[in-house]
Amino acid sequence: MGNKQPFDLTVKKPNAFWNITERILSSFQLLSVGGNITKVNCEGLKPPYLVLSNHGSMIDFPILLKATFPHPVNWVVALDGFVGRQGVSKNIGMICKRKFTNEISTARNILKILTQKKGIVTIYPEARWSICGVPERLDKALGKLVKAAKCPVVVLIEYGNFLLDPQWDVAHKRKVPVSAVFTQVVTRQEAETLPAEEIQARIEKMFSYDQYEWQYKNRIEIKSKYRANNLHKVLYRCPHCNTEFKMNSAFSELWCEECGSRWKMDVYGRLHCTNGEDTFNHVPDWYRWERQTVREEVRSGNYSFKDVARLELIKSAREGWVPLGNVTFTQGYDGMSITGTLDSGETIQFSRDTSENYSCHVEYDFKGRGDCVEFCAPKDTYYVYPLNSPNCATKLHLAAEELHDFVKQQRESNK
Ligand SMILES: [Zn+2]
Repeated sequence: MGNKQPFDLTVKKPNAFWNITERILSSFQLLSVGGNITKVNCEGLKPPYLVLSNHGSMIDFPILLKATFPHPVNWVVALDGFVGRQGVSKNIGMICKRKFTNEISTARNILKILTQKKGIVTIYPEARWSICGVPERLDKALGKLVKAAKCPVVVLIEYGNFLLDPQWDVAHKRKVPVSAVFTQVVTRQEAETLPAEEIQARIEKMFSYDQYEWQYKNRIEIKSKYRANNLHKVLYRCPHCNTEFKMNSAFSELWCEECGSRWKMDVYGRLHCTNGEDTFNHVPDWYRWERQTVREEVRSGNYSFKDVARLELIKSAREGWVPLGNVTFTQGYDGMSITGTLDSGETIQFSRDTSENYSCHVEYDFKGRGDCVEFCAPKDTYYVYPLNSPNCATKLHLAAEELHDFVKQQRESNK
């Protein structure tokens, strides 16, 4: 299924025209959210440096530009950021990457900007939009990258960005102030002297945030009537009757279609059960409980997922997503796979072992075409839409990580 040069994998540092243009355009986006940035330990900080940021919504780009003013910035973005706009994406410094794959071209491009062009590179190391307003797993190779680049590292943690426009309900933007803390965590000298493991540990320690806790502690009122709309995409399991995939939501309410339990979200982001015992008031607590139930299922040896799925491939930056037909999608202890006969008559058999993906990327109602898993090989990016398993995306994400950990542990103990 490979394509020759479907995407431009080269990189360039934005020139003065593009740097100024994107800064002017992005400044308008900050008008309604504030965008206060607190800088910590940044005295004398000058490019080149690496920025690692959390990722909640599109407001992250103007916030980053404000924090790095006036220097040009390069960004590592997912491949779909190039579809239909490769020229502009290249000019504003984007470096395209397939998710959860080890591409040599990405590392080479990052190092080229940092070491040869003396620029700023931004990575969103959780490799996804925030799912529940708390940190997701980070790429484990960040420490090694910093050692190779020998440059300072700044961590940018934003607050309010996720609550403003969560990826599972982008149609209803909430009114939320956004602020950020921009902290130099590794100086140029430390990048040379500290071991990669310590640099990695420092970075991971800085990725500690809880958007709902921030909202509650700072008494940030979200008055939007849609404040819990689509929350069932993440909170898919009922804590009262333990049923999966029967949760639903609309406006500020969340309920279970199976047992009828209902919750209402107040203006400070807290959930309250309106017809029974309170279980989780705090959204991330509910999410962490779901992860625990998936972990137990995986470790019991009984986890499996199989469904017919609609398959799309990002063919090239120009052609975008191309429908290929229906296939069988599975996720289990051997990893994820797609098999079947495509509309073209060609057969497909593609799989990735659990060891090859420490996580998987999911999208909620991607471009109005449904919830899907983005399934990447080094040369191909598939979008897999399970057809008979409503609301399974969050569980597939959690299961990919738990399967990765469990299988790794099992293989190590069997050595
Ligand atoms: Zn229930």
